[in-house]
Amino acid sequence: MITRPPGYDLILKGGTLLDPAQGINDRRDIAFKDGLVAQVAKRIDPASGGATVDVSGKLITPGLIDLHGHFYHGGNAISVHPDQMCLPSGTTTGVDAGSAGFENFLAMRDYVFPAHRTRLLAFLHIGGVGLALNRLLGGGLHDMRIIDVDQTADAIKDNAGFCFGVKVRMHVNAVAYWNAHQAMKSARAAADQSGSKLMVHVSGTPIPLPEVLEYLGPGDISTHAFNGNPESILDGRGKLRPEVRAAVDRGVIMDVAHGGVCCDLEVVKASMEQGLLPDTISTDIHNPPPAGSPVDQTAYLADRIVYPMNDLVSQFHSLGIPLVDAVAAATSRPAQVLGLQDTLGSLAVGMSGDAAVFDQQEGRFIWHDMAGHSVDGHVRLDTFLTVRAGTIAWREGHLTQIGEC
Ligand SMILES: [Zn+2]
Repeated sequence: MITRPPGYDLILKGGTLLDPAQGINDRRDIAFKDGLVAQVAKRIDPASGGATVDVSGKLITPGLIDLHGHFYHGGNAISVHPDQMCLPSGTTTGVDAGSAGFENFLAMRDYVFPAHRTRLLAFLHIGGVGLALNRLLGGGLHDMRIIDVDQTADAIKDNAGFCFGVKVRMHVNAVAYWNAHQAMKSARAAADQSGSKLMVHVSGTPIPLPEVLEYLGPGDISTHAFNGNPESILDGRGKLRPEVRAAVDRGVIMDVAHGGVCCDLEVVKASMEQGLLPDTISTDIHNPPPAGSPVDQTAYLADRIVYPMNDLVSQFHSLGIPLVDAVAAATSRPAQVLGLQDTLGSLAVGMSGDAAVFDQQEGRFIWHDMAGHSVDGHVRLDTFLTVRAGTIAWREGHLTQIGEC
């Protein structure tokens, strides 16, 4: 009788596994089979695998999860090509933060997202067309006829596994002082009716931040939480507002969503000094408006700094967060927020076969924000390999299969 080896599809050999959910930061080989993690061990025989990649000296993490990006490529002006932007940064799951609403999410679900290897999930905007009108009308909630709570809730309920919640933008361009509470109540109602999460853009809110936070409960997400606008998480003396501490204490998620003007490094530093660290690190990755577009120049300039996930993990590590915690904020923590911690955000046996392999570059690196602040670091995670569903999706500058859409 012939005994056959396990026949793994892929083995990563010789790397250091940093997996916060498992409490592992040690040398491990990892084998993948049928899209899942099949074995994690000090040594796995290369003869048992179809392909073995030597990742000696490199860092392996679970595939990164970007909790706030814009991935409805072709569906609106701001959305990026998911595979081209996610896989080179070690990101294997991207969550679209409200690029579509109940009126126009079907093409995202059925045509755009399936054309990519990155796992793509969504929050639906409380405005029925998402961000389709963002660049033309500056947001879209000034006319409240665009909101339909019942249809939004039904779309989310009917798409479990794809839709995870409701997005609403509390920004002066998107909503006015006079109807901000109405928009928040509608978004809250849609989240409650669908039994899903509420994600609120809190940067540039026309109403006081404490009034916005009142709508958020355990597991809801305050995104752009560390922005430097007047209604930030700090009061006029640079102290964390008590309402922010209360929100954190009841389980509201403080999400980075770094893109553009929406993260101020001085706010991050002041918050960390007072004991508040980000729960989740995310990009808000999006296309800037083209030069010469009718969008005002402030917005154009502000949109120019958008870092990918590997840079943001490196940046927050440089701000003083231990690497294991920065990786957790980009893997296990967002998986928990989505309720997907049993399948994503860790490389335990049986979990989804999504992994990132990084070279830890040493040198002097500087990351900036749009407020003119910066942070220096001496370690940068440089993506070497991205594994999605147990196969190599990106390697050393090349997508192994480019999504077409
Ligand atoms: Zn966004």
